Amino acid sequence: MFDSLNPLPADPILGLMAAHRSDSNPRKIDLGVGVYKDEQGNTPVMRAVKSAEARLLADQTSKSYVSPAGLATFNTLIASLVLGDELTKTLGDRRVTFQTPGGCGGLRLAAEFIQKVRPASKILVSDPTWANHVPLLGEAGLQIETYPYYDHKNHGIRFDAMMERLSKAAAGDLVLLHGCCHNPCGADLSNEQWQAVAELAQTNGFTPFIDLAYQGLGDGLAEDSYGVRLLAEKLPELIVVSSCSKNFGLYRERTGSLTVIAGSSEAARASASQIAATARAIYSMPPDHGASVVAEILADDTLNSDWELELTEVRERINGLRSALVTELDRQGIDRDFSFIEQEKGMFSFLGLSVDQVQTLINQYSIYLVDSSRINIAGINSSNIEYLAQSIAEAVK
Ligand code: PMP
Repeated sequence: MFDSLNPLPADPILGLMAAHRSDSNPRKIDLGVGVYKDEQGNTPVMRAVKSAEARLLADQTSKSYVSPAGLATFNTLIASLVLGDELTKTLGDRRVTFQTPGGCGGLRLAAEFIQKVRPASKILVSDPTWANHVPLLGEAGLQIETYPYYDHKNHGIRFDAMMERLSKAAAGDLVLLHGCCHNPCGADLSNEQWQAVAELAQTNGFTPFIDLAYQGLGDGLAEDSYGVRLLAEKLPELIVVSSCSKNFGLYRERTGSLTVIAGSSEAARASASQIAATARAIYSMPPDHGASVVAEILADDTLNSDWELELTEVRERINGLRSALVTELDRQGIDRDFSFIEQEKGMFSFLGLSVDQVQTLINQYSIYLVDSSRINIAGINSSNIEYLAQSIAEAVK
């Protein structure tokens, strides 16, 4: 069965990580992989997570199965975090939420559910989008097409072209939108642009599907879910997948959620039964630990405040690094405007370099980034920022 198989090419980001690890240059910088790093280059366990884990260790009395939908308290609390308390109340039984194995598990569960109830549905994704959207959605059987999004030349959103393409989306088509902190480009829709998308969806009847993987890392918890909340309020149907990997730092614990908002409570109940059967057929039930930790934090005022405080520190560090990088690049006297980096949000931005310039940074300066010149802002710190800016200045000469 396996004799005729050929190995697949290595994942470019994993390749970069390995190359960075084996590089002996003391000034090496890893701007590739998409995890948050602090000033010391660590990806720490958040304080509130540590406290919640200690409580769980002391208090948990059973490891028995929960259910395909996961922990009910997590589902209620995460829905409120994403949608806000008021709206969650207003939506009532039109909303169902499932705990999923990370955001990836949520994206795949949603795709499998859609494929089951409406085979070969079309889903429009932004150009560019996070590379893993394609296998997560496409390998479930959805037909992927793209809509224009990022303008590499002017470092902004091609909003008119995007709307032109979306205006051709029909009822029953899905449109994948990044809730905030777009990966890979960092350029987010403004509130006015979200309103225009909501109006178009109302007129044309397409169903938005929002991937919210970075809530709290852009402008704030409520600010980053402006689009999700607007669409949930205005439209009869919406799909939202959220991840706790970045905002709770729970990456390997695989913690996320899938929320479906339907036109009626009956439709939501029917959807929930289909999603439960779908989850059962893929992984049966999501892993518990991360969701128990999140539920413990969100249900407890003290833990919740400390978590929000630490998340604010993370967000402010990222936004501070964005400004600092623009300042450092300016100091190098490069004949280019990098101010877009300061306006973009979340962990990623494209530097706007050619593949050759990226290769120069890797081979001559031990600065590791992917060919598209997307960088993880959190890989920068106060001791490497000057070297980084100098090296970029040399590479673009
Ligand atoms: N969506 C986007 C845009 C992402 O960048 C990520 C993670 N990097 C995810 C979803 C899913 O993350 P996870 O499965 O680790 O929660």
